[in-house]
This record gives sequence, C-alpha cells and structure tokens, in this order.
Amino acid sequence: MSNVPHAFHEGLSQLQMELEDGELDRLGRFLDLLFEANAVMNLTGIRERDVGWNRHVLDSLTLVPLIEASGAGRVLDLGSGGGFPGLPLAVTMPDVQFLLLEATGKKARFLEQAASGIDCTNVEVLDERAEIIGEPGCVHRDHYDVVVARAVGPMPVLLELAMPLVRVGGLLLAIKGERAGEELKDAARALDVLRSRVIDQRRTGTGTIVVVEKIDETPADYPRRPGEPRRQPIGCDSRSRGKSR
Ligand code: SAH
Repeated sequence: MSNVPHAFHEGLSQLQMELEDGELDRLGRFLDLLFEANAVMNLTGIRERDVGWNRHVLDSLTLVPLIEASGAGRVLDLGSGGGFPGLPLAVTMPDVQFLLLEATGKKARFLEQAASGIDCTNVEVLDERAEIIGEPGCVHRDHYDVVVARAVGPMPVLLELAMPLVRVGGLLLAIKGERAGEELKDAARALDVLRSRVIDQRRTGTGTIVVVEKIDETPADYPRRPGEPRRQPIGCDSRSRGKSR
C-alpha cells in the first residue's frame, strides 16, 4: 500500500514480519476510524498518520513474536483505549482470540465499532474494570494465556490489575518506555505478592517489552477493590495497611 510509511515497513522487517495487503488495508482503515473518532473523544495525542503507523501500529506489533512463541490462544488487552496494542495484534493473528478490556464506556463503544468496521471476528470488547473481572470466582480470572498492556499505569499497579487474569504459567507482556528497568525496581514487592517474576526485558525500535510470568495462583485478596491498586500500589506505601505479607 502506497500510503504506508517506509519506516513502518522497515520496522516490520526488523520483527521478521510480513503483512498481506489485506492486513495492511485493514490496519489503515483502523487508523482512519481512530482519527475520525479522535475528533470527538480523546483516544490519542497523535495527529499525523505516519506517526500513527509507527508509534501505535508498529509499537503494538512488537508483541507478535512473543505471543506467537508462547502459543497463546486467548489474549486480553488490558486498558485498550483506542485499541492498542489489541486491535493491530488481532488483525495480524486471526487464530488468536482477543478480549479488549476498557473501563471507559465511550472508548469501549469505539472499540466495538472499530473491530466490526475492520472485520475482526476474533475480537470481543468488554466495558468493565480489571479489578471487577479479576475477582475470585469470575470467569475471567486465571483465564488468559497472555495479558498485554500499554500505558495503563506504573508496574505495581499494572501487576495487580493484570496478574489475576493470567493463568498460572501464562504471561503479562507490558509495553514500557526506556525507563522500564527503573520502574521494575519499585515492583519487587508486587511481583512477590502476586506470585510472579520478570523473565525478560526486550528493547524494541519503539520501547521496551517487559515479560512477566505468573508462577502460582494469585492470593484471593487480590485484586483489591476498584481504584485501590492505583491509590495505594503494592509495595509503594510507607504506611502500614495491615494487609501486606
Ligand atoms: N492501551 C492504550 C490506552 C492507554 S490509556 C494505548 O496504549 O494507547 C489507559 C486506558 O486504560 C484508558 O483508556 C483507561 O480507561 C483504561 N483503564 C485504566 N484503568 C483500568 C482498569 N482498572 N480496568 C480497565 N481499564 C482501565
């Protein structure tokens, strides 16, 4: 496709990926829908199409090799917002089932329209909070081979939202920036409490992917109630809450 920037194609070959024309077409249509909707709601700060291809689409696709290597069949995108990284991943991995989780109703409605607008039959959208669907007894708990997330919050917050949804032995793939290493220093306690460990950190052309494995069941008192993970991240509070262990 002629209007796909050169840098995007270069990035794809660095990932050793090739996309069919039909897939590029659907990704381009998705960017059209995103920019159209962005005129009436805040989905992205990016205004230029070329930048969208690289900072949104390519950045999302950096997860493809890791998801493929994991053999995942069920992936949840936590806090999908305007659809990243979940929708580009769904376009390029049609055999994987994706759930896009988004707590803001109007964004969730955009995701539904965008997914059907670009014929993603392997995508479902859920307008709910991670703290609710992660509760013990909920069908989504311990259910996903892989949870992906970008720009949802600091590592201890993201871990509490994500790890209850991952099955034991499954992965969280978090797209972070250059300072991922520093962020991880604050996450030691949360990793421990949530029975998880960082097994890899990979620099990509657009960021850093942090790979977290769930080693064992999430303790039943996590996640805490909505808002609490962000208000008082695990291990980041000097006051005693009487709940730590
Ligand atoms: N992943 C997208 C959007 C990032 S903004 C991107 O990288 O472009 C973070 C999004 O997460 C927001 O849309 C917000 O509504 C959603 N979110 C934040 N906390 C959440 C929670 N607890 N459960 C579900 N969604 C959440």
